This record gives sequence, C-alpha cells and structure tokens, in this order.
Amino acid sequence: MPVGTVASVKGVPQDVLEELGAQIILGNTYHLYLRPGVETVRKMGGLHGFMSWNQAILTDSGGFQVFSLSELRKVSEEGVTFRSHLDGSSHFFSPESAMEAQIGLGADIIMAFDECTEYPADAARMRESMEMTARWAARSKKYFEEHKQEVPWGAAFGSWLPATGTEDVGTAAIGCAGERQFARAAELRSAGQPGAAAPTCTGKTQSLFGIVQGGMDRALRKESAERTIAIGFPGYAIGGLSVGEPRELTREIVESTLEHLPKDKPRYLMGVGTPEEIVEYANLGIDMMDCVLPTRAARHGLLFTSEGKVSIKQARHAQDQGSLDPKCGCKVCGRYSRAYLRHLYASNEVLAQVLNTIHNLSFYLDTIERVRHSILLGEEYRFLSGAGLDRNLEL
Ligand SMILES: [Zn+2]
Repeated sequence: MPVGTVASVKGVPQDVLEELGAQIILGNTYHLYLRPGVETVRKMGGLHGFMSWNQAILTDSGGFQVFSLSELRKVSEEGVTFRSHLDGSSHFFSPESAMEAQIGLGADIIMAFDECTEYPADAARMRESMEMTARWAARSKKYFEEHKQEVPWGAAFGSWLPATGTEDVGTAAIGCAGERQFARAAELRSAGQPGAAAPTCTGKTQSLFGIVQGGMDRALRKESAERTIAIGFPGYAIGGLSVGEPRELTREIVESTLEHLPKDKPRYLMGVGTPEEIVEYANLGIDMMDCVLPTRAARHGLLFTSEGKVSIKQARHAQDQGSLDPKCGCKVCGRYSRAYLRHLYASNEVLAQVLNTIHNLSFYLDTIERVRHSILLGEEYRFLSGAGLDRNLEL
C-alpha cells in the first residue's frame, strides 16, 4: 500500500497511481485529523470524494503518529493527550475518538486504536502495553459497531459520487473496494480452488481491523493474537514492529505471530519494508504491507531497481544515457535517461521527486504483483538483493 499521509501520495497524482495499478493506499488519521480536519473531509464525501480516489483506502488509528510525532503526550487508560506537531495545540485521542475520526474520514479499512510498544521495553512494560491495547481494541469495536452507519459514503451521503460510467462504481461498491481486494487475495491464496466466492457488496460499512501487539515477546504476541481474535475482526494487523529492532527479530516475531492468526482473514504487517522484506513477509503469509520507504527514499534520490539500489545523485550517472532500470516497465524508465534524472535531482527540480517516486512505486507494485503470480502458481517468489530479480518461474 503506497502511503498517502495527508490524502496525497507525495508527488504523484491519482491518475498516475491508477496507471501504476495501486489498488489501495493508506492515509494517516493523525495528520488528517489535524489538517484539514475530519469534518472537512466528511463534508467532501470522505477521503474517496475529497481526493477523488475510487479504489480502496486504509487509515491507521492515529496511535502510531501520536506516539512518534507529537510532543508532551500523556497516556492514561482513557486515551492519549498530545500536542500537535503543527501548532502545539492540545488534543485527545481515545479508542472512541479515533474511531469517530476514522468513520468520518470514511476509508474502507480502519484500524483499532492501539499502543505501539517502544523498543526496547522490559517484560512488565510489554505486558502492560499489550493488555491496554486489548482493552482499547474492545472499546474500538464497541464504538464502531454503534456508529458504523455514520460513514460519509453511506446511503445518506452518496450524492458526491461523480458519474464515471463504470457500472460497478456506486455508493455500495466504494465501501466494498477493500473487501473485493481481499476476496481476490483469498482466491490467490487458495489457488487451484476456483469458485472462491465472487466478491459481492452486501454491506455499506467499513472494515475495522484489530492490531496485535506484545513487543518482542512471542508468548505475549500469542496472547495478544488470541485476545484480539476473541473480540472478532474481519482482518488482523501485526503492529509494533520495525521500531528499531534487528531484522532477524522482526522476522521471528512475524513468523510466530502469524501462526496464531486466521489464514482466511487478511493479515497486515504494519510499516514494512524494503523490496526484499515485502517479498519475504508475503512468502510467510502476510497479505498487506505499507511503508513510506519507496516514496520517502525516492524524494532523497534513492531508487530501487532490479540491479539493486541506485543513488541517482552520484556523479557517475551524469552522462549515462541508459535508463534507470532496463527491466522496469514504468513510464520513467521508458522515457528518461539516468543523466537526466541525475540532473533534475542535482537541480532540485520538483520533477525529480515526481519521477523518482513514480519509478519506486512502480518497482514495489511490480514486485508484489510478481509475488501474487507466484502464489497463484503455487511457487515461492524470491528476491535476491543486489543480484536482481530472481524467480523460479519465468512469468
Ligand atoms: Zn521504472
């Protein structure tokens, strides 16, 4: 999922995201709550209407940003008081207010309010934090069940939809966009078993996912998974990873946590990763991932290619007429030379950020598309860092 922090994947217009094949993007509740504010987005038809995006959207709960970006936060059983990183104003997020904000923003998938446990943390702290997340998950679910009809693309708010001429786009279909993707993913996972239920849009509400915490303790992760499943959600996320721990530990926790999550529900690993990592975790059974890496790295001139990472700012590209990545089918690689991309970057041109981001997103989406094909064929797709894309099947 490309990250569109403030209802914008930085530097990339929505029509280009569609061309790239992005099926779902992520928005950050903390940022959108502060600016432009939930009421503004709600009045514009929710995020889909506001940013003119008819594919699926996921919003996070705001918890992670509150813990990582805001100042002077104070955590209690009730919720978190924090100061805006924009103007220092004081705000309060609770499971209830985080659900209210996410219902107002109107994404297809929304996340339970959780506490992201810091790393490192001692055993007592990890347990305390995991138990708080479990209690907050129950409160998130309760509020959501009582208020889920208030979503801006519900029947009473459907008039914003533009006439697109696409028959399956309607007030019900928009809300089901996420559901549709998961039905497809489930179909891919159970390759060889045609007849997987054709996705139908029966409801018009969002999907609220639960989040498993528990720090780096496998037993706590298991308990967190069981308690979250007991509350009951249509999808489960693994949170609190990629917070500074060694990569080997991330993998170990992901692998052990996955054993306790239902295979027939989407399993979402939050905040990862490199192209190698997304392939690795997809092979373990993760269905969804989000990361700012492809977009953020692109803005700093760091590009992912089939031949490894390229720092486009380096002088050695100054007169290189070759394309950035001869194996990439994106419109940047098809049209521009490394020399030109290097010049744009060195000149601090806005176009450098735009083109670099388009390529990196294309590389990521193409990588995950190959993973999907491999799953469908019952094979494992492998990504060898620095040695290009290696796969055991020619696609
Ligand atoms: Zn490219």
